[in-house]
Amino acid sequence: MAKKEFKAESKRLLEMMINSIYTQREIFLRELISNSSDAIDKIYYKALADDSLVFNKEDYFIKLSADKDSRTLTISDTGIGMTQEELENNLGIIANSGSFAFKKDNEAKDGHNIIGQFGVGFYSAFMVADQVTVISKALGSEQAFKWESQGTDGYTIEPAEKDAVGTDIILQIKPNTEEDNYDEFLEEYRLKSIIKKYSDFIRFPIKMDISRSQLKEGSENEYESVVEEQTVNSMVPIWRKNKNELTEEDYNNFYNEKRYGFDKPLKHIHISADGAVVYNAILFIPESTPFDYYTKEYEKGLELYSNGVLIMNKCGDLLPDYFSFVKGMVDSEDLSLNISRELLQHDRQLTLIAKNIKSKIKSQLLSMLKDEREKYETFYKSFGRQLKFGVYNDYGMEKDTLQDLLMFYSSKEKKQVTLAEYVERMPEEQKFIYYASGDSIERIEKLPQTELVLDKGYEILYLTDDIDEFAIKMIMSYKEKEFKSVSSGDLGIDDADNKPSEEEENENKGLFEEMQGILSGKVKAVKASKRLKSHPVCLSAEGELSIEMEKVLKAMPNGQEVQADKVLEININHDVFKSLKAAAEGDKEKLSLYTNLLYNQALLIEGLQVGDPVQFTNDICKIMV
Ligand code: ADP
Repeated sequence: MAKKEFKAESKRLLEMMINSIYTQREIFLRELISNSSDAIDKIYYKALADDSLVFNKEDYFIKLSADKDSRTLTISDTGIGMTQEELENNLGIIANSGSFAFKKDNEAKDGHNIIGQFGVGFYSAFMVADQVTVISKALGSEQAFKWESQGTDGYTIEPAEKDAVGTDIILQIKPNTEEDNYDEFLEEYRLKSIIKKYSDFIRFPIKMDISRSQLKEGSENEYESVVEEQTVNSMVPIWRKNKNELTEEDYNNFYNEKRYGFDKPLKHIHISADGAVVYNAILFIPESTPFDYYTKEYEKGLELYSNGVLIMNKCGDLLPDYFSFVKGMVDSEDLSLNISRELLQHDRQLTLIAKNIKSKIKSQLLSMLKDEREKYETFYKSFGRQLKFGVYNDYGMEKDTLQDLLMFYSSKEKKQVTLAEYVERMPEEQKFIYYASGDSIERIEKLPQTELVLDKGYEILYLTDDIDEFAIKMIMSYKEKEFKSVSSGDLGIDDADNKPSEEEENENKGLFEEMQGILSGKVKAVKASKRLKSHPVCLSAEGELSIEMEKVLKAMPNGQEVQADKVLEININHDVFKSLKAAAEGDKEKLSLYTNLLYNQALLIEGLQVGDPVQFTNDICKIMV
């Protein structure tokens, strides 16, 4: 009988399959089982529309049989089957396969990745078999047909014997080679575990003959091997079960079984969406940060199932980066007909699901914040930083989504508070939301710049994370209250006692200019402070870039050369200022010494490096002797 040639594209895909890398081979089983399941579905749907056809559940199943002697693995189904023409058309060419269209542009480079992610259907059988035989009898036809191929050189089709409607796929498993072991695809336990992994939730039974040894009848120590047909898949996935039937423990078990994490999840979110897009999802918010979470290695994503079949291990498109800590899975029927064949990123259903999931996660986190504060604090400790990155990223596009989930340490409450809580407590005359940044709470507490604001009885948010101030700057204002750093030039506090009068300012103008000259370019200005009470000096910054931000940017891997516009503020009510003035009148050398000392002190308070530490210590010695 003449061999027919595969169409060119099919041939290329076949070559790709034959040369696939080891780790991906096992998915051939997922592909064939899914095809079988689809074939049964087709009868099921036909029966819905056709009264003469009755769908008896017991009659529909998928069966696997492995025979080590002949090295064959057979996957049989009682599905709709294929006619001669269908065998020709369906298995001879690759019909509109989206994954393949994609592959053309990316050829060998990304080809393997596609196998893993999208599924490539029937041809994947050639990853493990050097001959594939398909015997099929279509619903409504008398004659069965056999399709057979040994790979790229073509296929044959001829009439065959088969009693029942359905399809048998017989794989001649490749012999082992030095590098590759194919025997495993004939082992019961291995096949079972592959089914568990990818196809556990196929809604029809997947049966296998499982052998086990048992005591021989009438004997006390003689064993015999018996073969029993077992259904390997569980069929009902937890996410399709009714929420009321499930306990916290069920969800926790699922979390562990799936190896989403080694901790216990803080919260689960079970979604059964029935609106514009139909899907089930179980999502988890983990308790602790995965060890690689804040590194580039961490990969976000949810498992994606189409009608109970795993089609993607980590679908990143389902989660925004700021919720990348969420673990779990999504199963959608709406995806079944197109998703594995289309490019996922462009799938409209998937985009809808992602949008839906995002708002669910947000509302669940908000309710955790409201009703389970302690839990939320645990969560925030692990993943708060990611939310703050989310506020800052993409030009603050998502700040409205995220700002209500943020917390910062409060000078008043001595714990993390939300922006809403802060604004609620603000005294009427307070115009701004005040914040102070530094390396730690202890350090910020001692910052001279906080004095006046705290003295007024206003609350200050202490920002200790390097991302904090960037996030705050992105939010700009919350409930119409603008943020203000305690180090900024104008604090917006009217306090006549504390403000240096115009007279005082003018009186000292000359001195300040002289000091600025001594500091030669290190500061933008020297000014009489409006905020210091007991401390003699501090630094503040004019303009957008704060001193804290300068520190962060400089510490980045490709450290940027940025400078905040620093202002040296002097407390003119302090005794130190009297000494400064006295020095200015007679002893210029002393004035220079004092100015440098004060400037360096201010640097140290800010947690900045003193330019010349040796000079600094020498200066201190000078005033001691
Ligand atoms: P896809 O499933 O992406 O369409 P496949 O290469 O897996 O691509 O299969 C091609 C076609 O062959 C299927 O669409 C289906 O019509 C048919 N087919 C494959 N396996 C079976 C089967 N077990 N029973 C009936 N039809 C099948």
